[in-house]
Amino acid sequence: MKILGIETTCDETAAAVVALDDGDRGRILANEILSQIAEHAAYGGVVPEIAARAHVEVLDRLIARALDRAGTTLSDLDGIAVAAGPGLIGGVLVGLVTAKTLALVARKPLLAVNHLEAHALTPRLTDGLAFPYLLLLASGGHTQLVAVKGVGDYVRLGTTIDDAIGEAFDKVAKLLGLAYPGGPEVERLAETGNPERFALPRPMLGRREADFSLSGLKTALRIEAERLAPLASRDVADLCASFQAAVVDVVVDRVRVALRGFGAVAGHPTALVAAGGVAANGAIRRALAAQAGEVGLSFVAPPLPLCGDNGAMIAWAGLERLRLGLVDDLTAPARARWPFAKAS
Ligand code: ATP
Ligand code: MG
Ligand code: FE
Repeated sequence: MKILGIETTCDETAAAVVALDDGDRGRILANEILSQIAEHAAYGGVVPEIAARAHVEVLDRLIARALDRAGTTLSDLDGIAVAAGPGLIGGVLVGLVTAKTLALVARKPLLAVNHLEAHALTPRLTDGLAFPYLLLLASGGHTQLVAVKGVGDYVRLGTTIDDAIGEAFDKVAKLLGLAYPGGPEVERLAETGNPERFALPRPMLGRREADFSLSGLKTALRIEAERLAPLASRDVADLCASFQAAVVDVVVDRVRVALRGFGAVAGHPTALVAAGGVAANGAIRRALAAQAGEVGLSFVAPPLPLCGDNGAMIAWAGLERLRLGLVDDLTAPARARWPFAKAS
């Protein structure tokens, strides 16, 4: 089985081909990605109209290159998978219309994949992980703790009531005058800073529900930054380190609560998993690995290129759906919003 995956929900244009080998393991044959970071950098964030136009300009070429690198052709494929949401609707439409056209012309099944579900299933592609597992899904637009019980069977144990973790990293970076996207920059500077210099709040610590709140932390940081302005580079590094340390404490505490509630909805987890762009953060990865070890669980996070948005995860999610017969037709809608997990 061989699937093409297309991703255009945000600021990455991506196309990949993933195959299913004997023994049920996924194999990435091609994983092409073009980031639009340069187009959006001047604005300090993603501009939807610019994103949609940039996807139009490069997607055809990127798909051709992915097929080429994979040594395959359209007619060799078993299906066309595309992220049909959630995301910026202009970009989603570019990917979806392209996928529908290819599916129609090549007479292949269409798989309209939920972008978040694709992040959630990535550890099954990279590590062959079995269900159920506890997932921390953290990106620029989302922060959720989810019991992943099966394909299409997701129970949300917690979510953010304000900012997503990646969004908080990006806002802090902007506030400190750092480059966009902020997550990697904040992490890089945090490594040289003193995490104890600023006593920033740890919102929601100790709460019984596994929800997150990050806007208070971001505001506390802004107040410190304004108090110290103009900032020396030492101040910036210390603010980054103090912010990241607070985020790590909050994440570990929220995951602890979710692990406690996991059994009642899904039984015993096979692993603790981090996915989404924020899962690229080394401090968060190390803290979660230690925490998983303490309770006898393994910790799984995708390799860095598969943490952020990519085409391989879309192809893999399509593959998981296709082998269960969960095929879509050409009326599949593009969705700006599309919750993938049900409330617990
Ligand atoms: P969606 O929320 O729909 O998945 P997205 O484009 O935000 O969309 P990703 O590409 O998965 O999703 O994640 C990007 C986010 O991850 C950005 O907010 C970025 O700052 C954050 N991020 C990336 N690397 C790091 C890092 N090392 N530390 C912290 N945050 C990071
Ligand atoms: Mg992105
Ligand atoms: Fe994403």
